Amino acid sequence: MAEIILKNITKEYDNGFQAVKNINLEIKDNEFVILVGPSGCGKSTTLRMIAGLEDISDGDLFLDGKRINDVPPQERDIAMVFQNYALYPHMTVYQNIAYSLKIKKVPKDEIDRRVRETAASLGLTELLDRKPGQLSGGQKQRVAMGRAIIRHPKAFLMDEPLSNLDAKLRGQMRVEIADLYQRLNTTFIYVTHDQTEAMTLGTKIVVMKDGEIQQIDNPTNLFNYPVNKFVAGFIGTPTMNFFDAECVEEGGKLYLKTLDGKMELTPEKEQKLREGGWAGRKVTAGIRPEHLEFCTEEQAAFKGEISVFELLGSNAIIYAQCADSRIVMNTNDTDSREHGETVYMKPREDKLHIFDPETERIITN
Ligand code: ATP
Repeated sequence: MAEIILKNITKEYDNGFQAVKNINLEIKDNEFVILVGPSGCGKSTTLRMIAGLEDISDGDLFLDGKRINDVPPQERDIAMVFQNYALYPHMTVYQNIAYSLKIKKVPKDEIDRRVRETAASLGLTELLDRKPGQLSGGQKQRVAMGRAIIRHPKAFLMDEPLSNLDAKLRGQMRVEIADLYQRLNTTFIYVTHDQTEAMTLGTKIVVMKDGEIQQIDNPTNLFNYPVNKFVAGFIGTPTMNFFDAECVEEGGKLYLKTLDGKMELTPEKEQKLREGGWAGRKVTAGIRPEHLEFCTEEQAAFKGEISVFELLGSNAIIYAQCADSRIVMNTNDTDSREHGETVYMKPREDKLHIFDPETERIITN
């Protein structure tokens, strides 16, 4: 059982730099929470404060209702798995996994039983006599996880555990971690800069930027209902297209006007824009590449020349140079297209995101 609560947590380093600014986060027992954001956004610092490896400058940290700001790391009953594995190179896999129980003076036969059980659950049984230098990256990562699991901790903290692995192994290990989570039924907090990893692993994702939490949500809501332009652009590949548009009124209806054409709005979006007083003003609009479709010249919001065409099998990515922006389209229409060919595209109206150009906050999703 581990419920972790961060209340107004701030981290200011000795040089005065605020890496984490007044964040609030509730992590429920058995939840799989992901901290995601670009390099330097403060996610590792947050994780290290939870582990007790970094002092908390301000705010309160609770573990199962108890304030633990001043509890040393070894007494927190929280295990951390690092990006560089941090294995002892002179010890065998067996000794590495057994280490934490050995220093706790657990009886030898119990250690042996638990090491073998842990190794079996991670597919390491055959490797128990090897030293870390004789293991692949994925195997080292499994040993690092084994070292954490054997302690039966209240919570697992993982700091970019897969970033040293190649793409294929990363995919494989991701599935193993998801499987491990299902089996262990323990609180997991996982740090990554990779939004795909975040979206596929987490049930609750915390998007961070510049030491602040931008949005906490499940993958579907983050994708469909971003709270601002940063989250909209950070989540999803290829990234969302952003473009300037003007909210114009014609014949009693609102449209979005781009340099290439104009687009219709759903009644809900039109209402939100009216309510916010956006009629006649400039906005920033966003559309995901998969939410663009081909259309006729008259219907087009974008008219562009294909600069790159990538056929990926069941879908294709088209990069089109339009009047004032480069628009990326992800389409199932994989008929081969020529470099330089003119394409006409329009967004699916219900999938359009519209932002305040000043604050970059969402007006309507
Ligand atoms: P990455 O993915 O690159 O590890 P991150 O989001 O985990 O990034 P942190 O490691 O938490 O980022 O660092 C947050 C910010 O704090 C960064 O700008 C970093 O340069 C700064 N920082 C980290 N450690 C210190 C320190 N000891 N003194 C001063 N600033 C620090």
